[in-house]
Amino acid sequence: MADVRIGPQPVATVLDREPQRPALVGEAIKVPLVDGGERRYVNLDYAASAPCLVTVQEAVNKLLPWYSSVHRGAGYKSQLTTEAYEDAREAVRGFVGGRGDDVVVFTRNTTDATNLLAAALPPDTEVIAFTTEHHANLLPWRRRDLTLLPVPDSADDALDRLDRALARPTAGRNRLVTVTGASNVTGEIWPYRRMARIAHRYGARIMLDAAQLAPHRRIDMAADDVDYLALSGHKLYAPFGAGALVGRRDWLGTGEPFLAGGGAVRYVGTDTTLWADLPDRQEAGSPNVLGAVALATACRTLQAADRDGLEAHQTTVIERARERLLAVPGIEIFRLWPAGHPRIGVLPFALRHVPYARLAAILSAEFAIGVRHGCFCAHPLMAALLHIDAAQDARLRDDLARGVPTAIPGAVRASTGIGTTAADGERFTAAVTTIATEGPRWTYTSTPDGTDCRPTPDPRRLLLPYRDHGGRR
Ligand code: PMP
Repeated sequence: MADVRIGPQPVATVLDREPQRPALVGEAIKVPLVDGGERRYVNLDYAASAPCLVTVQEAVNKLLPWYSSVHRGAGYKSQLTTEAYEDAREAVRGFVGGRGDDVVVFTRNTTDATNLLAAALPPDTEVIAFTTEHHANLLPWRRRDLTLLPVPDSADDALDRLDRALARPTAGRNRLVTVTGASNVTGEIWPYRRMARIAHRYGARIMLDAAQLAPHRRIDMAADDVDYLALSGHKLYAPFGAGALVGRRDWLGTGEPFLAGGGAVRYVGTDTTLWADLPDRQEAGSPNVLGAVALATACRTLQAADRDGLEAHQTTVIERARERLLAVPGIEIFRLWPAGHPRIGVLPFALRHVPYARLAAILSAEFAIGVRHGCFCAHPLMAALLHIDAAQDARLRDDLARGVPTAIPGAVRASTGIGTTAADGERFTAAVTTIATEGPRWTYTSTPDGTDCRPTPDPRRLLLPYRDHGGRR
C-alpha cells in the first residue's frame, strides 16, 4: 500500500506493510489441535527461545563436512574449524560493539556467562543489582557479596537508587553493578547507558544482561562504556547451545578459571598448573564450535537486516495487542513502569477467571498459539507485579518447602520476534477474547500447584520429526 504521509505513521499503515525479514526455519509449520484439526503455529514465545535463522542453519550445514577438532590440530580440517571458531569471536564482538581488547568467551548461555563472571570477581567485590533481575542475573551474585536494591517505580527511580547505593563509602573495594538490558517479564528497557555513567562516576563497573536486549536493539559496548555483556544464542535465532560473555580482561584473566580442565592450561606439572591466557583460560573442555559459528552467523545476519523496521513492526504488533486486550473482560496486563516507557515486544497478562497455566494450555490446544506461563525465572519481580506481600511470600516458600500443595501465582507472556506478523497478533487477541468471553471448548486438568495444565484427554501425539512414524505426521 502506497503511503505518502510524512511524520508518524498510523498503526494500520505500519502493520499493513510487513517488513523485509530474514527467513526463519519452520515458519509455516502447522501443529495439531486438540479437536483433530491442524493450524499454522503462531509462535509468541520468542523471549524464551527464538526459532533458527535460515542463514544459521545453512552455515552449520556448510561447516559440518569440514568439522573437526579445534586448536592445535595440524590437519587441514582442524585448522579450518579453528579459523571458524576464532572468526566467530570477531562477529560477536562486532555485534555488541565490543572494544578491541575485550575478550569474547564462548559460554553455553547467559546463565553460564553470569556464573563465570561471578566466579572471576576479585574477592572483595560488592555486587549491586535490583531485585527485579532474572534468576540468571541474580542467583550467581548471591554467592558473592550482593547488595540488592528494591523494585524501582520508574527508570528515574532506578537511577536515583543506584546513585545512592554507590554514594556509600567503599573503603577502596571493587564494585560491579549488574542489570538487564530489557526485562523478560515486562519487556521494559532498563536505562543501562545512564546506569553505566553513574557506575563509572563512582569507580564501579557494569555488567549488562543482554539476553533479551540483544535480539531487539543495537548495542554498542564501547560507546556506552559497558564493561561486561552476556547473551544467549538460542534467544538470538541460533539455537545451537552457545552464548557469550564479552568484556574486560583483567578480572577474567587472573585467578582460577571458572572451569578447570583441558584447553585452559599452558602446562600441568605433577602438582602445579600454569593456566593459559584468555580466552582459552575460561574455555576449558572441547568448545562448541558449531554453536559459536551459529551465533556468529545470527549476529551477522541481524546486523545486515533492517533492524529498526523489524523492531518498529514488532512493537506495533504488541502495542495493538495490548490495546485490544485492554477491552477483554477480566484482563490484567502487567507493567512495572509507566505505560510510555520504551519496551521490547513482551506482553505479560492474566485473565482473572482463567488460571494462567489453563489459559496457556487452551491457547495451545485450541488455537495453535505458543506462549509462556508461570513466573518467568524472575520470582521477586513477579511477586512485585502480582502484589504478593512479604508475609504471603514467606508462606508460599514455607508451604513449598514442607511439601504442602500450594497454588503458585503466575501469568502468561506473549513475546514477539522477527517472524511475528500482524496476522499473528490478530489471531492472538481474537483467541484471548474468545477464551475470556466463551470459555474453553475442551476439558483440562491442572497440577495441584497450578503451574501446569493439560487437555484431558489429549489426542495430540508428540511425533518426533526425525523418527520413523510409519508415514504419519
Ligand atoms: N536474562 C534474561 C533477561 C533472560 O530472559 C534469560 C532467559 N529467559 C536469561 C537471562 C537466561 O538465559 P539462558 O537461559 O539462556 O541462560
